[in-house]
Amino acid sequence: MLKGSCHCGKVNFDLLIKPTHFTECNCSICYRIGAIWAHADESEINIICNDEDLIDYIWGDKMLAFCSCKFCGCTTHWKDLDAQQSTRMAVNMRMANKAELQNIPVRHFDGADSFEYLD
Ligand SMILES: [Zn+2]
Repeated sequence: MLKGSCHCGKVNFDLLIKPTHFTECNCSICYRIGAIWAHADESEINIICNDEDLIDYIWGDKMLAFCSCKFCGCTTHWKDLDAQQSTRMAVNMRMANKAELQNIPVRHFDGADSFEYLD
């Protein structure tokens, strides 16, 4: 299990699986956040926080919410807003202990343009 937490510690997560890779994406939002995502099914991720400590950022086609700690501003995860259609979500591994991530490769996803992995 991999754990992460925002800077102030109010928002924590557990990733219950060990992913084969993480994803860095260059789309307009991921590029700005600088996130390294671990994608999983929502059943494989526990978000541990008070709901009122999160800010959801929702824009465009309103498919996803990017969730950040209201206090320290760290973006900890995104979730699908239509859980009936998709239970995919992702946690930002920049919130995790670097040493625990070393054996898992980071793949680069071209979310800005081709929507394919660049490696
Ligand atoms: Zn925080």
